[in-house]
Amino acid sequence: MAGLYLHIPFCKQACHYCNFHFSTSLKQKDAMVAAILQELHLQKDYLGGESLETIYFGGGTPSLLGKHDLDLIFEAIFKHYPVAAQNMEVTLEANPDDLTPLKINELRSTPINRLSIGVQSFSETDLRFMNRAHNAAEALACIQNAQSVGFENLTVDLIYGSPSTSHQQWAENLSTLVSLQIPHLSCYCLTVEPKTALAHQVKKGTARPVDDEHAAQQFEYLMEAAQRAGYEHYEISNFALPDWHSRHNASYWQGKKYLGVGPSAHSYNGQSRQWNVANNAAYIRSLLEETLPFELETLTPVQRYNEYVMTGLRTVWGCNLLKIKDLGFESHFTEGAKPFLLDGTMELDGENYRLTKSGKFLADGIAAELFADSGN
Ligand code: SF4
Repeated sequence: MAGLYLHIPFCKQACHYCNFHFSTSLKQKDAMVAAILQELHLQKDYLGGESLETIYFGGGTPSLLGKHDLDLIFEAIFKHYPVAAQNMEVTLEANPDDLTPLKINELRSTPINRLSIGVQSFSETDLRFMNRAHNAAEALACIQNAQSVGFENLTVDLIYGSPSTSHQQWAENLSTLVSLQIPHLSCYCLTVEPKTALAHQVKKGTARPVDDEHAAQQFEYLMEAAQRAGYEHYEISNFALPDWHSRHNASYWQGKKYLGVGPSAHSYNGQSRQWNVANNAAYIRSLLEETLPFELETLTPVQRYNEYVMTGLRTVWGCNLLKIKDLGFESHFTEGAKPFLLDGTMELDGENYRLTKSGKFLADGIAAELFADSGN
């Protein structure tokens, strides 16, 4: 079983914190859809005939695609790829300002059965600080409308740690989603990425930088509030009510194969990674010439081990010692993990090394300590 990711590289406006690949001009949308159809055709053998278990439209803002665009893309997918006989997870990332009742009904008539809604906050102050294209009323209304037409499988993105987000607002954002019984939450700490508008504002002094202590307090509150409401904290940024995990994201963390289609999309086939050019015009031009515009890297044993540690430690399942042994790094890992077991940031459950609650604050640093280099 494998996954398919489609990157739709258009947004209405640029959020100040965002460093994803997108364009705010929609002029090339039709040419982009044609290029994506061509790539789906040219890459039909990439997954070696494995059936698709999950499809994920990310971006960018895939909710800018019209019904006709989606129909064409699904037609190409079902023509070129075997799909799981039942229970496929098909997610579309959507922004609240696109999710009108009409749009939601349209989406309901496609194979999409899961919406990932980019709410980020229910506070106008936060939304303005982030330069989001929607307002708080639209965020609330689109969730209620999606639920009323039968989209049960909803996930909502929130951002915490912003200097504009008070602790009270953060608590209100979470309690709103809990009361709406949203089955899955993805909560990300605001980070100031280089070359973004936010980085520029922080440098000029017109925006306050992210305060680590403020962000850590909101992360701690998030973990407690989510647990109280019955969510499992199954990955550092992801929380699910029982049986509502994201199967697509879990497949990345479990090292399953996936094909990424569209500019800047990444693919992984178990041995190598490849990534498409992050430029809309260059991507379209290349597909017009029936050439796949990617760079490829064959993973070394060290890279495969490091990736496994990085992703495994972020999840509730942790890092499995037998898998680490298979990768050839058993003694390196067990020696490196000793201080973290002693200081209580890690725990050992059978063959699985996991982060404890205090370790989750330090996930990236602990993973970095356990990484191998080519001398190991
Ligand atoms: S809508 Fe999403 S992809 Fe587009 S700019 Fe905002 S955060 Fe980035």
